[in-house]
Amino acid sequence: PVVTRFAPSPTGFLHIGGARTALFNWLYARGRGGKFLLRIEDTDRARSTPEATQAILDGLTWLGLDWDGDAVSQFESAERHAAVAHEMLAAGKAYKCFSTQDEIEAFRQTARAEGRSTLFRSPWRDVPEADHPDAPFVVRIKAPTEGRITIEDTVQGEVTWKAETLDDMVLLRSDGTPVYMLAVVVDDHDMGVTHVIRGDDHLANAARQSMIYTAMGWDLPVYAHIPLIHGPDGKKLSKRHGSLGVEEYIAMGYTPAGMRNYLARLGWSHGDDEVFTTAQALEWFDMDGIGKAPARLDFKKMENINRHHIGMSDSDTMLRDMQSYLRAKGEPPLPDDKAAAFRDAFGALDVADKTLGDLLGKFAFVLDEPPFTRDEKAEKALDPVSRGILKELTPQLQTVSWEREPLEQAVMGFAEAQDLKFGKLAAPLRVALSGRVTSPSVFDMMMIIGRDETLARLQAVID
Ligand code: GLU
Repeated sequence: PVVTRFAPSPTGFLHIGGARTALFNWLYARGRGGKFLLRIEDTDRARSTPEATQAILDGLTWLGLDWDGDAVSQFESAERHAAVAHEMLAAGKAYKCFSTQDEIEAFRQTARAEGRSTLFRSPWRDVPEADHPDAPFVVRIKAPTEGRITIEDTVQGEVTWKAETLDDMVLLRSDGTPVYMLAVVVDDHDMGVTHVIRGDDHLANAARQSMIYTAMGWDLPVYAHIPLIHGPDGKKLSKRHGSLGVEEYIAMGYTPAGMRNYLARLGWSHGDDEVFTTAQALEWFDMDGIGKAPARLDFKKMENINRHHIGMSDSDTMLRDMQSYLRAKGEPPLPDDKAAAFRDAFGALDVADKTLGDLLGKFAFVLDEPPFTRDEKAEKALDPVSRGILKELTPQLQTVSWEREPLEQAVMGFAEAQDLKFGKLAAPLRVALSGRVTSPSVFDMMMIIGRDETLARLQAVID
């Protein structure tokens, strides 16, 4: 069975690259009936914060990426990590190195002066344990000294390092604490992780991590190092480009479904398919579709995909997404009555917008309280002549049967009888009903708010 994991370091928000890594792992596992685990890599005590952990959990939850079991803390397994280093020590796969910082520095200076590699080669590697003085030491792995280290990477293919380019990395510091590289391997092994999908900035780590697996006689996971995301200009992603927290994407008005679709396409493809559901992504996602070139962020595409997902959304999901959006913007969520009005109106209409902000504007007619504050354009649409037209129309709406077809016939018939282009009538009618110059169709609005409210809003502008 497939077991993947997302292993963020809680030193900041969940950024878009992390969200994509999490999504790929989630899709790969969930699409195969496997498990998706979450490990918080909080061994850097100075930089890890509970707020960052919470932000990551919240971001994943918003994205709809559920993990199996509880999120585990890497730091809490520190004793287990150290124990593995001691096992390696006992098995002769690692050794105690008593070299001091000064000695290491001196080694490097000599090497530099003699034009040799400055990679530190510890003189303690082959000294029997009994000979060691009672002094501080670090534990180093006995890395291979010749030949090559090769990783079979699903995305990158075969990647090879010459053994002489890698030193005997430290496993335990002089205070006995395990290093990060060891922690990752032990945790992945203990958690039964079968596939490691992560950014290719970790590719070099894989070489070192593979040595630990080999020393312990453990099976290596399948590696998939995915190219990092680049900005629209092809340069490394920076804050300026949108290397932002998921929280900021929520506040920009993206939906979880839209983000899942867009992020899946960021570095992975399935033929020409651009817009697809999460169910399809689960069915289709595979390693073959992961590209070798860095994907570029493209906000136009993100908006376009988002628009489709807003259009496909059911009304309960849309209400939930809207509330998350308002919260992320620091605005109060819709109170119960307005939430219900929004949900029902969304369910009754066939609308799609690029962002939730645009969508929200469209629903002003059920969310804003009349009397509406109108901007200049809206005010202009209600000039005296237009108000006069609405005054003529109003009585006819008092008796018409309040169903879509008769209503349309009545309004269209009125326009014809007055020799008015429909637009000339619709524009002031729209402003009267919504306070705005853009809104859903006037008939949609009338059906949703009902006869009494329609008449009241018309009355308010013709008096
Ligand atoms: N904690 C690492 C990071 O946030 C990920 C390590 C891994 O996936 O092996 O970049």
